[in-house]
Amino acid sequence: MRYIKTSERLNLLKDVANENGWSTDVIGQTKNGLDLFVFRNRPDKHVDICAWSLMHGNEPTGFNALLSFMQRSNTSISWSIFPVVNPNGADLFKRLNADALDINRDARNLSSIEGLALSKWVLGENPSLALNLHDQRTCFYPKGKDVPASFSLLAPKGNRDYETTSQIIAMNCCSWMTNQLKGNYPDGVGRFDDSFYPSAFGEYFQENNIPTITIETGIGLNDWARVEVSKSLGELLFSLDKNFQSALSCKLKSYQKLPQNVNNAQDWICITSAGPYEIRVMELVENQKYSRAWKVVGPGDLDRKYWFLSESISTSVELTTGQILDDDLVQFLGGISIKDLDVFSFSD
Ligand SMILES: [Zn+2]
Repeated sequence: MRYIKTSERLNLLKDVANENGWSTDVIGQTKNGLDLFVFRNRPDKHVDICAWSLMHGNEPTGFNALLSFMQRSNTSISWSIFPVVNPNGADLFKRLNADALDINRDARNLSSIEGLALSKWVLGENPSLALNLHDQRTCFYPKGKDVPASFSLLAPKGNRDYETTSQIIAMNCCSWMTNQLKGNYPDGVGRFDDSFYPSAFGEYFQENNIPTITIETGIGLNDWARVEVSKSLGELLFSLDKNFQSALSCKLKSYQKLPQNVNNAQDWICITSAGPYEIRVMELVENQKYSRAWKVVGPGDLDRKYWFLSESISTSVELTTGQILDDDLVQFLGGISIKDLDVFSFSD
């Protein structure tokens, strides 16, 4: 479920909330009149975890995981969840909000309605942990590994120069998460570089003494639609719910030992007599219909990592940058039909 309309997302959330006794509150409204919804499982208790997703409207994996988490009826700790931070962007499957603002660069200016609502909500809840859920592009992989980064973890800095208490707690929890994930993703967990971006919400909440973790979910070689990774993230949240205190005090340093992410992998390199081309999976939403396509992005670089390679040097096909490939041409070039992407193993 990479794309559904925002109205459908909200209906699903409200139905699940009703079934499982989560409270539903509106904490703001976008300029186009869409409500910003927050759901709480124990509205009378101090909040242990705030979690949010779809700050970037084309990054729905966190939403799917939060929805599946809310479907579990036996939660242990107190959650407050803001699953659709950017409802206008999510409706269009676009990163930015209706004013073309990147909400995750708006933590200081608070010029977006959504960023202001997010800030007020998290600071008001003052949770023991905040989870900022994003998708990452297919080009990321843990340095030295041969698989994409299906999970990337980041405990953002709360101060440019030293580790704050909140960052240390967040790193403890990242170590716990690393250990939880390594069974299913022995190589596919990376660490984001923790350069200090003060305008991002992770840094902002960390600075405000709220331990904050950014989780970025990516593809797997058999999971380009991110179905498995969203299930794994839902399981991780459920396990965190059951092991919250031990996660916050985990001292194993597994997070610090994770390889850093590199961001230059190519989806598909196709070698033709005109040279290698880099071809990438594009996700498109037009008129509220989702589709994927292979798109030529330019010359391929065989010295950089790639997830799939084909050769059709006997043909003289010339590809142009920006070209969208139809299924017949993909087949001719020795590629994988876009509809088969999730069942084909790129590592074969
Ligand atoms: Zn994002």
